[in-house]
Amino acid sequence: DKRGPEAIEYWTRTTCVYCGVGCQMDVSSRDGKVVAVRPANHPTNRGHLCVKGRYAFEFNHAPDRITTPMLRRNGEWQAVSWDDALDFIAGRLRDIVARDGPDAIGVLGSARASNEENYLAQKFARVVLGTNNVDCCARVCHTPSAKALKTMLGTGAATNCFDDIEHAHALLLCGVNPTENHPVVGARIKQAVLRGAKLVVVDPRCTELAQLADVHLAVKPGYNVPLFNALAATLIEEDLLDYAFLTERVSGFDDFAAFVAEYAPERVAGECGVAAADIRAAARIYATAKPAMCFHGLGMTEHLQGTEGVMTLINLALLSGNLGKPGAGINPLRGQNNVQGSAQMGCDPATLTGSQLIKDAGPRFEAAWGCKLPATHGMDLLQMIDAARDGNLKALWAFGYDVYLSLANEAASRTAMAKLDLVIVQDLFLNETACAFGTVFLPAASFFEKEGTFMNSDRRVQRIRAVVPPPSDAWPDWWIIQALAARLDHPQGFCFDNPRAIWDEVRTLWPDGAGLSYERIERESLHWPCPDEHHPGTPVLHRERFSAGKTAALACIDFVPTPETIDDDYPLLLTTGRTLYHFNAGTMSYRTPNAALRSSDTLDMSPGDAARLGLADGEPVHVHSRHGMTTLPLRITDVVRTGQLFASFHRPELFVNRLTSLVRDRQVHTPEYKVTAVWVERARSD
Ligand code: SF4
Repeated sequence: DKRGPEAIEYWTRTTCVYCGVGCQMDVSSRDGKVVAVRPANHPTNRGHLCVKGRYAFEFNHAPDRITTPMLRRNGEWQAVSWDDALDFIAGRLRDIVARDGPDAIGVLGSARASNEENYLAQKFARVVLGTNNVDCCARVCHTPSAKALKTMLGTGAATNCFDDIEHAHALLLCGVNPTENHPVVGARIKQAVLRGAKLVVVDPRCTELAQLADVHLAVKPGYNVPLFNALAATLIEEDLLDYAFLTERVSGFDDFAAFVAEYAPERVAGECGVAAADIRAAARIYATAKPAMCFHGLGMTEHLQGTEGVMTLINLALLSGNLGKPGAGINPLRGQNNVQGSAQMGCDPATLTGSQLIKDAGPRFEAAWGCKLPATHGMDLLQMIDAARDGNLKALWAFGYDVYLSLANEAASRTAMAKLDLVIVQDLFLNETACAFGTVFLPAASFFEKEGTFMNSDRRVQRIRAVVPPPSDAWPDWWIIQALAARLDHPQGFCFDNPRAIWDEVRTLWPDGAGLSYERIERESLHWPCPDEHHPGTPVLHRERFSAGKTAALACIDFVPTPETIDDDYPLLLTTGRTLYHFNAGTMSYRTPNAALRSSDTLDMSPGDAARLGLADGEPVHVHSRHGMTTLPLRITDVVRTGQLFASFHRPELFVNRLTSLVRDRQVHTPEYKVTAVWVERARSD
């Protein structure tokens, strides 16, 4: 290059950090900075990237990135050395353990961190601190999916892979909006439909794919369980069953048939807000245009009956034989790049690496780690927040996770987190958690700056590679965890030279991942389970038998209405979610040119409601719930139905979680972000 070596662009293959599709991309750097991203031609994304993966990278070099450790003293953040920061944390953690015991501390892994780092985070909690209080952001999104799939089928992950989209003759999308939130998969679904695949969409909103659907069931928020029971009742009543599959692989049919008969479409359609004829039409498509593939999202999981709602979905696949074959299955679309990996690596209070129950796998981990595992049950994230409120949790360490902004019901989170003695935030920026409650800030390396692996929605383990070095004094999470372990006199077991060495330890403890060596991942695209180095990986689960056994039992799930209901004072139903240009707390995407493409969250309202309230497009409105109030610009759109509203939640200053309730999933405590009763008024200038 005649311009000199400093002008040469280097391209490095890595994995997108945003959604759970896990697109592969080539990243170019110059003078130590990321300067361009282009899509890779890889089975995951076939030469495509969305507007986030392709353009939202400038956060990496944003001027407000924090690149030195900081301590908050007398309310002011002060830069300190790593030695000072680590000594401070180690001293405080020692004091808390001595005074309140190890279960007064909680650790939160992250979808932003690699598998290797999440593995080390949970190992740190269990070995160094001596607590099972470890969790991750899966708790607020797809833990209900993992729980339902594990309970009924034996593996808490997607049953099929993205390549099956092209094999499916019908697609059933439930509470998921992939053209905005998983755009590369959304585009593949759209192409499949344009080529002739049938499409059924279950969503309160008339999304882009709902507009293309053969049947759109615009279910009222909170009514998934009766709707899916009605679909099951239709399959039985109209004899749309796969008898061979039922005979060989399904148990509990007679009891289930008697139970679900109470949910005939004509009985429940009204309360679900849909037409009985549409329920029947949807059931016929799903059961006859086989194989039929189901994708679902947070519209299924973030409810009082999130886990149970996913179980009612699995019932449909069992009745119709849409499991264990290409082009079928039940597939949660994970919102964040490595949220599957963070939980799978053991950032979960009840399971160890590989989702292995502590009671089963504990002895093997104790032998490998040379320690006794903590005897007490761990707390999940929501239980940690409750414990903080009650004064029983004293310290929280959060990696790459703006937990305060993300949790439902800001007032309750604020009350609880204000009582913590020590809040360690490890991130790229001073997020809302750090600003409001942080005691120590540890500057982390971004995914552009480190090696490791991510695990995407369809169980593929893929490499991330360092494109540029971390700035100044920022370090990868795995390095920080090891440094703190050494400060706490636990160097043994925390002295890995690199992420590959950590991964090799993961493989010895996780039988389904044993065959996923770095050498193979470099060459091949592999889905776990992959139990040895000659195994080809498993794109389709449950082919001959379920992971849980030869047969799976149908689940009789009765409907339990949410207590969060509309009335004369709060007459509108709000759901919250993401948009195409931004990602979660906006920490990264709002520091990129994507901010210009969509500069603010909005409150989406139907033209009818806007006219009735005398509100104009674009004007600021106050939104009040029983739990709080925020102000948002109004967007009038017929994507939402009359009586319903939608708000995105990316901008910290708008803090949409001021509105959301304390209702949680009955089994795994995921907050009910999808149902909040509100009223709306024109913003007052005072
Ligand atoms: Fe990244 Fe998801 Fe977009 Fe792919 S679809 S580029 S993984 S945000």
